[in-house]
Amino acid sequence: MSAEIISGKELAKSKREEMKKETARLKESGIVPGLAVILVGEDPASQSYVKAKQKACEETGILSEMDHVTTSISEEELLTKIENLNKADHIHGILVQLPLPDHISEKKVIETIDPEKDVDGFHPINIGRMMTGQQAFLPCTPFGIVEMIKSKNIDIQGKHVVVVGRSNIVGKPVGQLLLNEHATVTYCHSRTKNMQEYTRSADILIVAVGREHFIAGDDIKEGAVVIDVGVNRNKEGKLTGDVDFASAEQKASYLTPVPGGVGPMTITMLLHNTILSAKWKHNLNGF
Ligand code: NAP
Repeated sequence: MSAEIISGKELAKSKREEMKKETARLKESGIVPGLAVILVGEDPASQSYVKAKQKACEETGILSEMDHVTTSISEEELLTKIENLNKADHIHGILVQLPLPDHISEKKVIETIDPEKDVDGFHPINIGRMMTGQQAFLPCTPFGIVEMIKSKNIDIQGKHVVVVGRSNIVGKPVGQLLLNEHATVTYCHSRTKNMQEYTRSADILIVAVGREHFIAGDDIKEGAVVIDVGVNRNKEGKLTGDVDFASAEQKASYLTPVPGGVGPMTITMLLHNTILSAKWKHNLNGF
């Protein structure tokens, strides 16, 4: 068997084309979705993520405002900036790029963002809404993963989903979203014993660990759908996922590549959430 590749890059492209049309329609009614991004410090990875998000906004017709501050900013100053953005009428989404310097509490920052502008979907109110199946801003990476699975009309209901990794931004919420879609969900993590027993029984295997070649063909059930969330740099400086692509491709029915898989979908769902926020604010589709 050779797996069919689910290209996040292609799916993201077509979704962004649709969004471009939507922002053009909104503009006719005087609405321009606006995203504010705060970047603290000079971390190269964060800088490149923020740049990619801004470029994607521009291409999609979303106003993006960037506030790049130095690490000398105090927690209080940063929280004040967020409070001002909470009040700004033209801003529908607020994103504070993580990680933050040690002297700033990520928890406080996330909880200061107005839940109605929390387009990253990290605020406990949005997490609670998601868990209880209410309308919410869904966290972008898990949301993108579900969209990728659905794009291939893969049946989720009643399927055994195994999620390897239980972080608050990927593992936990992606399992929850798939549970909402009526999957039976198992989580594996660093304390899981005999992990291969679980991964080999997965109809849909989601891997979000952050280690190159963590999952190989031998860990995968014949015909499983495999979603590789990992982003690692190998010794040659090349981007790789958590899944050994060559051996996984022989076992899986569907497989996502790295790069060009989950990554482009994450940014796309951020754009989606920002547009949705603008629409909700103007009661264009009820909250
Ligand atoms: P994280 O917070 O470091 O979480 C890693 C998870 O992997 C933890 O739950 C950890 O278990 C588990 N783990 C570590 N070693 C393990 C082992 N030996 N066996 C089983 N489980 C193990 O990472 P994250 O933020 O979720 O990100 C995971 C990967 O996805 C990273 O490579 C990251 O760069 C990538 N990522 C990609 C995107 C994208 O848009 N493409 C977005 C976000 C993240 P414990 O909880 O027990 O420690």
